[in-house]
Amino acid sequence: MGLQRIQDRVGVAARAAGRAPGDIALIAVSKLQPESRIAAVLDQGHRLFGENRVQEAAGRWPALMARYPDTRVDLLGPLQSNKVRQAMGLFAAIHSLDRPKLARRIADIAQETGACPDLFIQVNTGEEPQKAGVLPEDADAFVAGVRAMDLPLVGLMCIPPVAEEPALHFALLAAIAKRNGLAGLSMGMSADFETAIAFGATHIRVGSAIFGDRPPAARSDASDSRSAG
Ligand SMILES: *Cc1c(COP(=O)(O)O)cnc(C)c1O
Repeated sequence: MGLQRIQDRVGVAARAAGRAPGDIALIAVSKLQPESRIAAVLDQGHRLFGENRVQEAAGRWPALMARYPDTRVDLLGPLQSNKVRQAMGLFAAIHSLDRPKLARRIADIAQETGACPDLFIQVNTGEEPQKAGVLPEDADAFVAGVRAMDLPLVGLMCIPPVAEEPALHFALLAAIAKRNGLAGLSMGMSADFETAIAFGATHIRVGSAIFGDRPPAARSDASDSRSAG
């Protein structure tokens, strides 16, 4: 546990896969963590974080960003249409683009403001009915649709089903990205980021392994995000 230990493991996994550790962005997932733990990671020099909920992130990151100006925070969780404007003002990237209506709304605001976060399309690789994300068979068409809106699409994201071998899902996501010419792969969490790196992850999302266990509410949030996306 701890930032340094995870950075070391990222380095080992990257070299084992013949990759440069610097090509893998480590997103420290700070959702529901006490602010003291977040400050400790910021004080160690880390500047890339991930949050699941717009409201929670908006509550604490503006002040932290003022204290640590080069910090960037990515949105990993589901985004409701009525929170898009707020999200676009706060996050450097959105990893959960999963429907045309949301893409349309993002495009409208990007047009108006002249700015847009990097976008990852979430793919429901396990085809779980309760989980967010486009189905694998719909991914190519959705990629084309997002590109037609002239949005900064950088890659794909997935959250494998809890009880399945994550490697199969990482391989599927990588194949969809490759055939669509997308370089970004947001995949891998505390339990499986080394496997994700072996399958080409460019962005890994690691929470509890860096910060320690989330408080009880957080644990149910984690399972929500796995089941509900
Ligand atoms: C919570 C969460 C993570 C991090 O989970 P850990 O198991 O704590 O590493 C990564 N991605 C998403 C989408 C999450 O909701």
